Amino acid sequence: MAAGDYYERLGVPRTADEKEIRKAYRNLARKYHPDVCKEPGAEERFKEINEAYATLSDAEKRTQYDRVGHETFTNASKGSYAGGGYEGGFSSDFSGFGDIFDAFFGGGRGASPRGPQRGDDLLMRIQIPLEDAVAGADREVEVWHTEPCPACDGTGSETKTLHTCTRCGGTGQMRQASQTIFGQFVRMTPCTQCGGRGMVPDTACRTCGGRGNQRVKRTVKVHVPAGIEHGMRLRIERYGEAGEYGAPNGDLYIEVHVAPHDRFVRHGDNLETILDLTPAQAVLGSTVEVRTIDGRTVELKVPAGVQYNTALRIPGEGVKRRGRPGDLLVRIRITVPRHLSDEERELYARILEVEGKAVPQDEKKGFFSDLSDLLGGKKK
Ligand SMILES: [Zn+2]
Ligand SMILES: [Zn+2]
Repeated sequence: MAAGDYYERLGVPRTADEKEIRKAYRNLARKYHPDVCKEPGAEERFKEINEAYATLSDAEKRTQYDRVGHETFTNASKGSYAGGGYEGGFSSDFSGFGDIFDAFFGGGRGASPRGPQRGDDLLMRIQIPLEDAVAGADREVEVWHTEPCPACDGTGSETKTLHTCTRCGGTGQMRQASQTIFGQFVRMTPCTQCGGRGMVPDTACRTCGGRGNQRVKRTVKVHVPAGIEHGMRLRIERYGEAGEYGAPNGDLYIEVHVAPHDRFVRHGDNLETILDLTPAQAVLGSTVEVRTIDGRTVELKVPAGVQYNTALRIPGEGVKRRGRPGDLLVRIRITVPRHLSDEERELYARILEVEGKAVPQDEKKGFFSDLSDLLGGKKK
């Protein structure tokens, strides 16, 4: 059934640009997709639209088509791709619009349902100190990955030219039909000769052995944003493995592990640190110096009567995220002195007396503390 030339099939003028052609094709493909359109002849129409798009979406083929005209072009190209991969195959391979449009548009070429595959993603882990997670940091990491071989421009061919695979006719796929009680199933599998590429090199490239890519070490600059949390992944586009010829590299994911810190613990955007106070400081209050995570010292007023385990807040000294930093929580710990001077001992004894509690006799004489000092000295 002759359905007019390719421009008529898509309903676009001969001057239409890539975008118009693509848009027209999308609309028509949606309308006539056999899963949706039950009109008689819809499937035939769908194939014709695809055939037209396969040519008009490819600049080289379109130029050729315009030059030689519809008749000559379609006769000459029979067998190479016309009709090709769509025959029967799609209805069992594609489940819905998402799939079918990914397959047609994602691959870039209407003629090959699979298209060249993007490279694999890579995952690597780095460990950073808490300081870098709090303030952000720029890092350089070394990554081994594959890149298109420079000797053959990624073709895998010594002469940089490829010819159409004879086994699959360039589609990169082979059909496997099987008969079951539910009817015939058609399964598409990657071609064994070309590995699904549809093209094979004349002579394998000597540098890469025909693979089309090579393993290299690259230094990647990574910006670790302030506030990153343990286990988060950063994506570095195109630093994954090489794709098939004509397809981009995959991405590199860097999983960031934050090392534990000896003085700070993180809780969301807040940091927490411990402050040791003497009993007198806790009772009377005090002004102390606290070290921040970036090494500065800030003053903190500890109120009189502060209780053990209270958290005092220093605003803005936490994680520097999104311009609204978290706070530094200073957790109070009260340490009882193990060694007292005579003067201190007298004063503590005096407090006991004022509190109306019994003062140990030995404490008064100073005998016990001397003994305790002796024992303490031995223990060290
Ligand atoms: Zn093949
Ligand atoms: Zn090569």
